[in-house]
Parts: sequence; C-alpha cells; structure tokens
Amino acid sequence: MFEHLQPLPADPILNLMVQYRQDTNPNKVDLGVGVYKDEAGNTPIMAAVTEAEKIILATETTKSYIGPAGAEGFNHHVSRLLLGNQHSVLSDQRLAIAQTPGGCGALRMAAEFVAKCRSDVTVWVSTPTWANHIPLLQGAGLTIAEYPYFDKDTKGVQFDAMMDMLSKQTKAGDIVLLHGCCHNPSGADLSREQWDAVAALCVEKGLMPFVDIAYQGLGDGLGEDAYGLRKLADTVPEMLIASSCSKNFGLYRERTGAVMVLAASAEQAKISGSLLFSTIRGHYSMPPAHGAAIVETILSNEKLTQMWDTELTEMRQRILQLRHALADQIAAAGCEQSFAFIPEQKGMFSFLGISKEQVARLRDEYSIYMVDSSRVNIAGLNSSNLDYVAQSLTNVLK
Ligand code: PMP
Repeated sequence: MFEHLQPLPADPILNLMVQYRQDTNPNKVDLGVGVYKDEAGNTPIMAAVTEAEKIILATETTKSYIGPAGAEGFNHHVSRLLLGNQHSVLSDQRLAIAQTPGGCGALRMAAEFVAKCRSDVTVWVSTPTWANHIPLLQGAGLTIAEYPYFDKDTKGVQFDAMMDMLSKQTKAGDIVLLHGCCHNPSGADLSREQWDAVAALCVEKGLMPFVDIAYQGLGDGLGEDAYGLRKLADTVPEMLIASSCSKNFGLYRERTGAVMVLAASAEQAKISGSLLFSTIRGHYSMPPAHGAAIVETILSNEKLTQMWDTELTEMRQRILQLRHALADQIAAAGCEQSFAFIPEQKGMFSFLGISKEQVARLRDEYSIYMVDSSRVNIAGLNSSNLDYVAQSLTNVLK
C-alpha cells in the first residue's frame, strides 16, 4: 500500500518556522507564521481566556458528547458577534450554525455542504488568497476559479478588474469567497462602498457570497470589521460564513470556529441545518468543546467581555502603531522605495512587494524570515527589532 508513495514538498510556512528555530543569530526576526505576537515576541493567553478557564474548571460537570452542532450557547453568541444583536436573519430564524474545529473546519464543512447541495459548483477566490483555501475547497470537490484582487502597483484592491471579472465570467449559482476583513495575505480590504457594490452584484447575478472572517476585531474594530458581512446578510437571500476564534480570542490550538448557512427562509434554514449536521457527523462527528466553552463563558459574562474587548483593542492598536513605525523607519533609513502603503492596510499581514531574491537575502544575510511572496506578519515586529528590519530592508533594496 505505502511502498510506492513519494514525499510531498514541505509546507513553506512550516518549513520557515523550522529554519527560524535552527538559526543561531541573536538578531533573528520571525515575520513568517501568522500568529499574533506581543512586544516580547510571545503569543500570550489572553487574560479573559485564563479567567474563563478558571470558571469552566470550577463549574464543568461532564465531558459527555456535545453533538455535531457544538455548544448552543457558543453558537448563539458567535452569531451575534458577527451579525450584530438585532439582525433580521436571527429574528427570522434564517440561520443554521455549527461550532467547528477552527476556521479551517468551518471552511471545509461549508464546502462539503455546498457539494451536497449541488454538483458542479465553482467558487471564485481572490488572486491571491490564503493558500489553504485551495485544498480546503478543492478537497470537497468544488471547482476553483480566480478573480483579480491585489494590485501590485497601488498595493490596494484592483476593484474595477474584480467587478469586471465577477460580472462577466460568473454564472448564477457560482460562489464568491470574500475575506470579511484583514485580507490574508495582502492586508488590502474592500471599502464600505466597494462592499455595497459587491452585495448589489451578488443579487443582480445570483451569486452566493461565502465570507471567511478570521480576524474580526484586528482591523478597524469588532463592528467595523463585520461591515461587509452584515451588508451582504442584509442584501442577499443566501450566504455562507466561516468564522474563526483563533486570532481574536488567541485560541489557535483549541480549534474554535463556526460555520453558518443563511437561508432564504426559516424552513430552508432548518433543512440546511439537518444537512450541515449530517455532513459534520460524517467527518469528525462533533467539535472539541474547550475553546468554544471559553468563548461562550467570555461572551455571556459582561465583565469578561469587557476585559476581552480591551485586550483585543490593545492588540489592534499595537498592530496599527507597528504599521506606522515600520513605514516611518524605512523612510528614515533612506530607502528610495515608499512603504507608505503599510499603514493603509489592515490586520496582521502586508506584502512588502519585494522580489523572491530579496526575501532570500533578508533571510540568509540578516536572519529576517518571511514568506517567499514577501508577506510579513506585522505583529512579529517590536521596538527591539524594528530598526534592524527597516535598515536591513533598505540595504537589500539598494
Ligand atoms: N481563514 C483565513 C484567511 C486565515 O488566515 C485563517 C488562519 N490562518 C483561517 C481562515 C483559519 O484559521 P483556524 O483554522 O486556525 O481557525
């Protein structure tokens, strides 16, 4: 069975982590892997999470199964965090939701659900998109097509080209995958007017939006970052959402997320739910409980919600400060190229827009690690490495 197997190439980001760990240069900087880091370079457990864990430990009475949809309380709070408390989708009971193992679990279960609804589905993804979108969607048998998104010249969104492609090349029933906020890998987000135009196009062409939101609260704010998702939910009859609590609750390894199906009626939502839960049952049966219990404990307790919100705000503001500081320091180092676009972008990632060779020089000569595409994790910067990164980049660009 296994004799004929050939090894696959190592995952580039995981490979980068190994190389970074083995590097003995005391000045080494990791801008590769996409986790939030604090000033000390750590990915800490949020204080609200620790408090919630104490409560869970003191009050938990069973480890019995929780069922394919996961915890009802988690689903209740997460749907409100995303859609807002008053959304008509909630009051009209047009929502089917399940807690999932992270955003990846949500993406895959949404894709498997779609594959059960219809064969021959095309999902349009941005160029570029998060690399793992492709195997997660293709693995469910969906066909992938790409729409233009990141503009290498302006470092913003190629909105006209995106709309042109989506209005001319798609057919009714196609799915458009959109990053809810903090586009990974580019950091370039749609403006409110652009979200409005995308929502109108989805209705006009009969396209179904599929929003992947993995960074709510790390761009402009919890409500602000959900603008596009809420606008679409206001506008279209059907929609899919995959959300993750990995970044905004710092729960990465606890595998906590949610998949949502917004249907045209309460009855269709109920039927969609039955299909979704049976899909889940056939994959991993039910999600792990702990991460969702933490989120539920925080969001059902006013004091903990406040505490979490304050910590999340600090993370968001730190990223924004680093974005400004990096652009300023590069300019101060005398770099001819402008990096003024960095503070304009949102969330943890930006493309520096430098060549593969320059990325390799930063790694080999300066021990500064980033993905080959020149995507950097802004949160990997801090006051002790910022000057070094700005100066090294300037040297490499000479
Ligand atoms: N979507 C995007 C765009 C992401 O960047 C990530 C995490 N890197 C995810 C989804 C899913 O993350 P997780 O499964 O760890 O919750």
